Amino acid sequence: MGPIRNIRDVAEKHLCTGCGVCAYLEPDGIRMVDDLGQGRRPLVEDGAGTGEALDACPGHAMELPAFDPKSGHLKELWQGWGPILELWEGYATDPEIRLAGSSGGAATALSLFALEQKRSSGVLHTGARRDVPYLNETIRSQDREQLMGASGSRYAPASPCDGLQQVEDAAGKSVFVGKPCDAAALNRAEALRPGLAAKIDVSIAIFCAGAPSTLGTLEMAKQLGVPEQENIDSVRYRGNGWPGMAVVRGTDTAGKSVEGSLTYADSWGRILQKFRPWRCYSCADHTGEFADLSVGDPWYRDIPEGEPGRSLILVRTERGREFLEAAMAAGALTLEKAAPHLLPDSQMNLLHTRGAVWGRNWACRLLGVAAPKYRRMGTGKTWLQDLSFKQRAQSFYGTFKRVFTKQLYKRRPVVPFDAACQDRGDRG
Ligand SMILES: Cc1cc2nc3c(=O)[nH]c(=O)nc-3n(C[C@H](O)[C@H](O)[C@H](O)COP(=O)(O)OP(=O)(O)OC[C@H]3O[C@@H](n4cnc5c(N)ncnc54)[C@H](O)[C@@H]3O)c2cc1C
Ligand code: SF4
Ligand code: SF4
Repeated sequence: MGPIRNIRDVAEKHLCTGCGVCAYLEPDGIRMVDDLGQGRRPLVEDGAGTGEALDACPGHAMELPAFDPKSGHLKELWQGWGPILELWEGYATDPEIRLAGSSGGAATALSLFALEQKRSSGVLHTGARRDVPYLNETIRSQDREQLMGASGSRYAPASPCDGLQQVEDAAGKSVFVGKPCDAAALNRAEALRPGLAAKIDVSIAIFCAGAPSTLGTLEMAKQLGVPEQENIDSVRYRGNGWPGMAVVRGTDTAGKSVEGSLTYADSWGRILQKFRPWRCYSCADHTGEFADLSVGDPWYRDIPEGEPGRSLILVRTERGREFLEAAMAAGALTLEKAAPHLLPDSQMNLLHTRGAVWGRNWACRLLGVAAPKYRRMGTGKTWLQDLSFKQRAQSFYGTFKRVFTKQLYKRRPVVPFDAACQDRGDRG
């Protein structure tokens, strides 16, 4: 497939995570659009996307620094999970935030703390589009109501880095919330643009096993009784309980109001996860290794029905440690220190994916298909040490099959979706 020379190559060769940082860095030549079968993707003018945009792009390359024993990072977690200084478990002290949040409402509570203490003047994150509720948009929230309106994980494409100019232009600092690939993109953009770095209070990554394309949301809505996308009024994927229900509101073909819901196990396990783009299968960082703080589910035990949410919080940098300590001191979060083993106990599937990625990416390269380059991210050692023989073999032969079934050997141009003409497209 040849080398990656520009952002269009990244997008068309199945490497784009949809973060949006290229559009922030090169707004004259690149804009983010919705491609229903893939996700948020860059539309690139001829000749654009070769400089800073390509340097910051996490889609084709990611690199961690070497482990430094003096850094305070936990050695036992480095290979599988990247830099971690401390682990905490708990929840948003405000019960409304805890209930609304996906896990224990940590991301929203941390964001609100920054606004209320006037450390930050805004929070750059993701919410449902008001005009097209099955799509997402980047928003910079400035008060509690806006934050609450965007709480809960949206298992659908989002590109929060396309809003980084708002952060740079704002008076005061901002909190950033995004998926691990979004946090990695921000990290690279901060290194390239000191003006941006000076405006970031803290970056928070939410754990992510993969962001399904919009076709996943539309399939879920169809199964819940709203088959026409223009009849969807709202989509929620999680939250309002732990893990909470996926809820779609709208009207059916007879014009009758519908409110359909599915458990998280059903919505993710039976529908959404099948719509993850290939880049999520070749993703090594599912827990936000380039963020200051990462938040996810402490799923190391069975959760009895009705239990209010809890969050696992990883402190990855000194900036993150200072922020979390201040949030705890202000009473925004109720937390207790967590033992390091609770991370693998909670998210073993993500560790296995990190290992499988090594096999998947080598299988791609052997067939001439582009694969992300990971430096010092421990994928090879994880493949060798944490996967069974069967899993190691599967990572190769499963990929050989997928290269053909998903036509990964072919370039896939970005197909922009125009919500106004409601063209659903036909590609999965
Ligand atoms: C695609 C996807 C995959 C996930 N996979 C995992 C997983 O494998 N393991 C796990 O533990 N948890 C996973 N989650 C859930 C999420 O990481 C946890 O629930 C996390 O603990 C956040 O919960 P919270 O209560 O702190 O967040 P909340 O307080 O509910 O806040 C959520 C924040 O995330 C932002 N957000 C929502 N959707 C997106 C999006 N698509 N892209 C970027 N930002 C978004 C919101 O704007 C909000 O700021 C996934 C979430 C998503 C969106
Ligand atoms: S991963 Fe991000 S920077 Fe790279 S092409 Fe996709 S949207 Fe652009
Ligand atoms: S799986 Fe990885 S690449 Fe895909 S959305 Fe999540 S963090 Fe980004």
